[in-house]
Amino acid sequence: MSDLKLLITGSKGRMGQAIIRAAEAQNVTVASTVDVGDALAPALAKADSVIDFSSHLFTDELLSECLNQKKSLVIGTTGHTNEELGRIREAAKTLPIVFASNYSIGVNTLFWLTRKATELLGPDFDLEVVEMHHRMKKDSPSGTARTLVEILADVRGLEYDKDCKHGRFGDVGARTPKEIGVHAIRGGDVVGDHTVIFANVGERVELTHKASSRDTFATGSVRAARWLEGKPAGMYDMQDVLGLKG
Ligand code: NAD
Repeated sequence: MSDLKLLITGSKGRMGQAIIRAAEAQNVTVASTVDVGDALAPALAKADSVIDFSSHLFTDELLSECLNQKKSLVIGTTGHTNEELGRIREAAKTLPIVFASNYSIGVNTLFWLTRKATELLGPDFDLEVVEMHHRMKKDSPSGTARTLVEILADVRGLEYDKDCKHGRFGDVGARTPKEIGVHAIRGGDVVGDHTVIFANVGERVELTHKASSRDTFATGSVRAARWLEGKPAGMYDMQDVLGLKG
C-alpha cells in the first residue's frame, strides 16, 4: 500500500469511477471525493494530491484551493479556454502539476510517432486530424486532437489558434499548405479514436490510436499521481511521467 492519499474530483463521472477502481488496483488510498454540490476545501484537506477529471468550469476553484493548501494536482479535464490554460501554467510555478490531454501509454506513443513522422515526411504532406468520441462528450475537438495539432504545428512552425481549420463547410476554397484540418465525429459509446493523416500526391500515411476502455486513462492518471510525489513545482505531462522526453 502506497502512503499517497488522493482526492478524486468529478468522482461520479465516467472517468471518476474508473479512477477510483484504478487507485484500488494500484493500492493507492482514495481519501476523499468531490462532485457537483460537495465542499472542496474539507475534502482536499484529507488528501496529498488531486486527480481531476471533471469540467474546465471547475478548474479555477480547484487551482485556487490547491494553492491555498499547497497540494499537487493531476489534471485530465479537457476543453479549457486559453485564459484557463494560462491560469494552470501560472499555478504550476508554485505547485507540481501533471496536465495531459491523454493519460494512455498508446496515445503518448502516438504523440511521439506524430512528431517523428512530421519531421521525416517534410512540408509537402498535408496534415489532418480526425477524432471520434461517444455521444455525451461536451468539448470539441478533443484535448488529444488539440495536442496532436499542436505537435504538427510545432514541427511546421505554425500556430494552433491561427492555422487550425475546424471542419470545413461551404465554399471554403482549396486547401492551403499551411492549414491543419481537425474534424470531430460524435456517436454511440466510442471511448476515443484519433487518426493523424499525412497526405501527399500519390501517397498517404495514417497513424491511428483507438481506445476501447477508459481504464487505460484511469490507470495512467494514478501512475502520474504516484510519479508526482516529491517532485518540485512545475508543469509536467504524461511524456515526463513515461520518460518519453529527451
Ligand atoms: P462525465 O460527464 O462522465 O463526468 C464529469 C463529472 O464531473 C460529472 O460527475 C460531473 O457532475 C462532475 N462535475 C462537473 N462539474 C463539476 C464541478 N464544478 N465540481 C465537481 N464536479 C463536477 O465526463 P467524463 O467522460 O468522465 O470526462 C471528464 C473530463 O475528462 C472531460 O473533460 C473529458 O474530456 C476528460 N477526459 C480526459 C481524458 C484524459 O486522458 N486526459 C480521458 C477521458 C476524458
